[in-house]
Amino acid sequence: IATSTHGTGSNLQSLSGQVESLRLILPDGEALSLTREDGDTFLAACCSIGALGVVSEIGFRLEPAYRLKERTWTLPLQEAMDFVEREKDNFRHIEFFAFPLGEQAIVKTMEITDDPTDSSEREDSNDLLELVCKVAMRAGWLTPNLQKLVTLFVEDSTYTGPAHKVFANRRTVRFNEMEYTVPAEDGIACLQEVCETIRKQDINVFFPIEFRYVAADDRLLSMYHDRPGASLSIHQYFAQDYQPLFTAVEPILRRYAGRPHWGKLHTLGQRQLRELYPAFDRFQAVRRELDPQGRMLNQHLQTLFGATG
Ligand SMILES: Cc1cc2nc3c(=O)[nH]c(=O)nc-3n(C[C@H](O)[C@H](O)[C@H](O)COP(=O)(O)OP(=O)(O)OC[C@H]3O[C@@H](n4cnc5c(N)ncnc54)[C@H](O)[C@@H]3O)c2cc1C
Repeated sequence: IATSTHGTGSNLQSLSGQVESLRLILPDGEALSLTREDGDTFLAACCSIGALGVVSEIGFRLEPAYRLKERTWTLPLQEAMDFVEREKDNFRHIEFFAFPLGEQAIVKTMEITDDPTDSSEREDSNDLLELVCKVAMRAGWLTPNLQKLVTLFVEDSTYTGPAHKVFANRRTVRFNEMEYTVPAEDGIACLQEVCETIRKQDINVFFPIEFRYVAADDRLLSMYHDRPGASLSIHQYFAQDYQPLFTAVEPILRRYAGRPHWGKLHTLGQRQLRELYPAFDRFQAVRRELDPQGRMLNQHLQTLFGATG
């Protein structure tokens, strides 16, 4: 919850938005039991990047266990953009993975289902992805064609089962990632620009861009504070230099008033973050009150919040 980790679905909030109560141990050892009635202290503690103290208990908003039906298929990139933008409110979960150089996409939707039959275990190996990343890294001229071949390897398929199984995927291929959330209505336009830039600058990247929608919430530092968002997650294979890619796309994401994900790479400091997060000053006021000496601030958090106050 401390970084507003999220999934996808225009009616679903990030994890920090699902918190009903929590217990926060302050740097001086005092324990606070917080609920919505505690106002900004609670709203700050739900997404705090660890800057307020240690959360030792969380009360989550839950619902009875449910079953999901997932569909995965490929589309040409432009068609995937049109489909997802048009259908974003018609599925509980909807997202796509964009391959800008090959101009293809993998689309994924999930719906709650009553179907009691579990699908057989799905192929969940990451070996092919690892191999393709290695080939693309060494022979960049092949990357557009490798991305085009995605359509051959991803079949139109459905997978039904209990939600915890359908949601979970193995992720063994290491990567570096930058993610920004832009206003939901600008998401596709922003993605178009990012893809065009990657093509124009001929940046060698096989890993796709993940595009998702998330509902607004009121947590002070949430990427979705008071604003429904579209998140663009840009990945680069860990053994490849991520600087050319991230340096090229970050200005575009910022131009769309993008807010960086707290758990991923970005280059912003206090001054820029204050402009992007409307409740930044309210968070800072809570932080200064709970930790006046800045004892929770490591080097990274000092970049975000200043040395103490
Ligand atoms: C394979 C992979 C897939 C991912 N997929 C997604 C995704 O789908 N959506 C998404 O939004 N993000 C995703 N992420 C990023 C993820 O959101 C962040 O890495 C997340 O912050 C990890 O949380 P953690 O608890 O595992 O890590 P940690 O590094 O332990 O914690 C992250 C932050 O929480 C703080 N924290 C941890 N414990 C406490 C505590 N008890 N009290 C107070 N603060 C605490 C830490 O100080 C730190 O700032 C993914 C990352 C990986 C590696």
